[in-house]
Formats: sequence, C-alpha cells, structure tokens
Amino acid sequence: MKQDGKFLLMNREEFRVYIEGLIGAKTFKTIQQHHTASPAYKDVKNNHFALMRSMENYHVNTLKMSEIAQHFSTFPDGTICVGRPLSKDGGGFLSPGNRDSITIENVGNFDTDIMTEEQRHSIILLNALLCKKFNIVPSTSTLIYHCWVQNKSCPGTKYFGGNTKAAAENNFIPLIKLEMEEPLTYEEALKIVVEKIDSNYKYWLKRKDIDPAFQGLIIKIAKSYGGK
Ligand SMILES: [Zn+2]
Repeated sequence: MKQDGKFLLMNREEFRVYIEGLIGAKTFKTIQQHHTASPAYKDVKNNHFALMRSMENYHVNTLKMSEIAQHFSTFPDGTICVGRPLSKDGGGFLSPGNRDSITIENVGNFDTDIMTEEQRHSIILLNALLCKKFNIVPSTSTLIYHCWVQNKSCPGTKYFGGNTKAAAENNFIPLIKLEMEEPLTYEEALKIVVEKIDSNYKYWLKRKDIDPAFQGLIIKIAKSYGGK
C-alpha cells in the first residue's frame, strides 16, 4: 500500500483486507459506475496520486464540492485508490441521487480506451466486495451507470460491452455475482460464455438439455472467465 495524505493506493488483495476490516462506514444502498473520461489512458503514467489530486482540485474548485467526489478510483494497472471516506455519501450524481450511494470512478475514457484486464478484474472485485460489505444485491437498480440518470455516455459506451441496462444485465451484473460466489443461472452463465467465444445465445439456450452435464459445464466455464 502507498499513501499520499488521505489517498491510499492498493492492489486488489490489499484492498480486500482494507474494506473487510473497515469500520465507521455509513449505510449504502447503491454503487455508481463512472469513468473519468479525462484523465484518459493517455494521461496515466505512474502518476496515480497526481491524478487523484488533480481530480480533487477540479471537484473542489470548479464544482464547489467539499472534497473529491469518488470514494474509489480504479486504474489501468489494477490499483484501487481510496479518496472520499465512507462516512460520507458519494458525489458522482446530482443531488439527491448521491444519497446512500457509493461513487466509483474508473480512470479511463471507455468510449474509446480498451479496458485493461487488470482494471477489469479490479472493477469486478471492488463492486463485489462493496456489495458484500453493505449487503447490496447486484442488479441494475443497485449498480447504477451514470448515463441512466443523466444524459451522458459515462461510464462509457464500451464499459463491459456497453452502457445500456441490457448490456449491464448481460455482461456486468453476472460477473459481480460470480465474484461474490452467488448462485449463477444457466442463462447468466451462457451470456458470459457466448460473449467470450462470439457464439449465439439463443442457439445454445434452445440446446440447454442436450446433455445432463451441459448446463453445469457452461456455469463452470463462465466461472473461469469470472475475473479470478
Ligand atoms: Zn459519471
């Protein structure tokens, strides 16, 4: 772990220990998904703390917030940085959308940047650990993309295969459930597998009974893609 003032920069395993042991957090019901857009990948050069300070500077001096908007930032190298404390609501939406809401900013512009595997794993783990910590059931009502509440592309048109609710249901929510080791249905597992191998969902949905072991096999394969 590295520290610069209140900013704590951690790898995934350090973050797991940190969040599981954290006390004094308020209650949360939702988790906001954002991308930073600027900074984008081209601006990231092992300058995590400088970027955190520059984002905070913008939030405080231009947006007139009390401090940095986001509780957590993820970076292309997979590190996770703590910003705003969990004793406060997040600041990523317009009021009152921030009530009981955690703000995550993923550093990158996912309209154009191709997300690294490291960052992808960290976003999945971060959301899963926060869902567990705060008893949040992953769904499109609880893991909320910014563009669903304001007219923007945030968290990016390429965020886990798209920024629509349908894309989140197909490509994002099942990955969070997998990471939490929540039971996964055949349909959810199949969506993950067909996305990876570029196959046809409806075709394999119709053939789900071709062999007694088939559904279990697809769930197993989906789990192997699940960010671990
Ligand atoms: Zn946003």
